[in-house]
Amino acid sequence: MNDPLVYLNGALAPLSEAKISVLDRGFIFGDGVYEVVPIYDRKLFRFEQHMARLFRSLKAIGIPNPHDKEEWRTLIDQVVAEHPADDQMAYLQVTRGVAKRGHSFPKDVKPTVFIMTNPLVPPSTEARRDGVPCVTMEDQRWLHCDIKSVSLLGNVLAAQYATERDAIETIQFRDGFLTEGSSSNVWIAKNGKLMAPPKDNLILEGIRYGLIEELCTAGQGAAGAIPFEARRIERAEVLAADEVILSSATKEVLAVSSIDGRPVGDGRPGPVYHKLYAAYQAAKAA
Ligand code: PMP
Repeated sequence: MNDPLVYLNGALAPLSEAKISVLDRGFIFGDGVYEVVPIYDRKLFRFEQHMARLFRSLKAIGIPNPHDKEEWRTLIDQVVAEHPADDQMAYLQVTRGVAKRGHSFPKDVKPTVFIMTNPLVPPSTEARRDGVPCVTMEDQRWLHCDIKSVSLLGNVLAAQYATERDAIETIQFRDGFLTEGSSSNVWIAKNGKLMAPPKDNLILEGIRYGLIEELCTAGQGAAGAIPFEARRIERAEVLAADEVILSSATKEVLAVSSIDGRPVGDGRPGPVYHKLYAAYQAAKAA
């Protein structure tokens, strides 16, 4: 489908015809937030959690929420219904709106609301089987990575750093401690225990973060037996981990095979990854 229908400010339109003002504060200042919601078999996955995060992001930057949860669901479902693929990624963006350029919040401005969806492209068979190479760099982003802001320049530069090195993701560190990838959360496993940085302002709390915590602590299912700890993780611990795992809406969970050219563990996806992957697939099917 070359020109799918998208939603913009109250109406559906072909993507090629959906236009916003050059004065939109999303364009001028990156003044907006977004969400990416996976859709399996035309059903929104972890919708409640994605909405909760969207509402938190909007509140954090003082944009009035333009829709309640059920309105959002209806709008997203409309766009999803127009798309031929059963598995999709819905992208939602809300900006502060259109106003004469000036840094502070303008008065009486209506938020811009945009929704599009694309086919969900899962990691390749090879990536699943072998894991993926990653590189590292110092985290150069701002101090509110917990807000899912469209101001993504730091993330864009981190992603490009990986691409130029034939890697899949850049694992970032701030002051010697693990933060996250350019568009994923990062987990390490050591002696069967799973660890991740705490949910603070230095990382985005992925919807997968909460899901993986649930899978570890559910006490049943394939991942039930995985002990989990959220704590600050030093760079040396990442490099010495038995397993390093990425999580995001598109990657689901994905094993890291090497970091800066050195193998992680034995360089193959390990037992904690396999357990989490199986539990994740079960959660999707539930
Ligand atoms: N951190 C960052 C910076 C991200 O962009 C993403 C992807 N949205 C994640 C973590 C993972 O979040 P989720 O599990 O909700 O996809």
